[in-house]
Amino acid sequence: MWFDYLVWGWIATAIITFGFLLKIKQPYGRHTSSSWGPMISNNWGWFWMELPAMLIMPWLSLSGEMQLGTVEYTLVGFWLAHYINRTLIFPLRIKTRGKKMPLAIVLSAIFFNAINGFVNGYYLGNVKTIQSEVDTWFVIGLLLFALGMQINQWADNRLIQLRKESDGYSIPIGGLYRWVSCPNYLGEIIEWVGFAIVAVSWPAASFAIWTAANLIPRALNHHDWYHTKFETYPKERKAVIPYLV
Ligand code: NDP
Repeated sequence: MWFDYLVWGWIATAIITFGFLLKIKQPYGRHTSSSWGPMISNNWGWFWMELPAMLIMPWLSLSGEMQLGTVEYTLVGFWLAHYINRTLIFPLRIKTRGKKMPLAIVLSAIFFNAINGFVNGYYLGNVKTIQSEVDTWFVIGLLLFALGMQINQWADNRLIQLRKESDGYSIPIGGLYRWVSCPNYLGEIIEWVGFAIVAVSWPAASFAIWTAANLIPRALNHHDWYHTKFETYPKERKAVIPYLV
C-alpha cells in the first residue's frame, strides 16, 4: 500500500541523510552560516520549524476513522508534551536574541516535521487497525520516553542557564555532561526510542531513526567544536553516547 512505501522511503531517506550529515554541518546555532542564503530570527525559526509537527500528528490521529485506545491516546499525549515545549516554550526561553538561522534550514525542518507528523498521525488515525494493549513493553517504552524527556529538558535547561550566566559559550559541567558533550541529544534519542517501543510501528521507528540520523552527526560536530574552542575541554567526555560515541 502507498503508505508502507512512503514510510520505507522515509526510512531510506533518513539513512542517506545520516551519511550526508556526517560530511556537512547543519548550519544553525554555533555552526550558523550566512552562506546558506536568507536568514531569519533564531527564535521565530524554532517556532515555525516545529509548528507542523505539533499540529499535524494530533490532528490526524484524533480526526481519523480508527477508534483509539489507551496506547494511542498515550502516544498523542507524549507527542503533545514534547512539541508544546519545543514549539511554544523552548523558543521563548533560549537566550539567542539577535541570532539568526538560514531560512533554508527552517524550510527543510518544516518539510521534515510535516512528513514526520503526517506518517505518525495518519498511521494512528487511519491505518492501524488493531488496538495495542497496555503490556510490559508499553511500560518499558513509557519509562524510556519519560527518562529521555527528563534528560533532554534538564540538559537544555543547563545550556540556557549557562548562556544566562555569561554571553557566548562555556563548558557545561555536571550530571550527564560528565560523560557526553550533548546529553540533550542523547535524551531526545532515548525519548523517541521509547515512543517507538510503545507504538510498535514503522512510522514511530522512522522517527527514532531520523532523530539519531540528525543528532549523532550534530553531536560529533559540537564535540569537535568544543575541543577546538576550549583547550581545557575534558578529554574523557564522549560526544553523545557515554563511553562509545
Ligand atoms: P544545542 O545544544 O546546539 O543548543 C541548545 C541551546 O543552548 C541553544 O540556544 C544554544 O545557543 C545554547 N548553547 C548550546 N551550547 C552552549 C554552551 N556551551 N554555552 C552556552 N549556550 C549554549 O541544541 P540544538 O539547538 O541543536 O537543539 C535544541 C533542541 O532541539 C535539543 O533539545 C535537541 O534535542 C532538539 N532537536 C531535535 C531534533 C530531532 O531530530 N528530533 C533535531 C534538532 C534539534 P546557540 O543557538 O547560540 O548555539
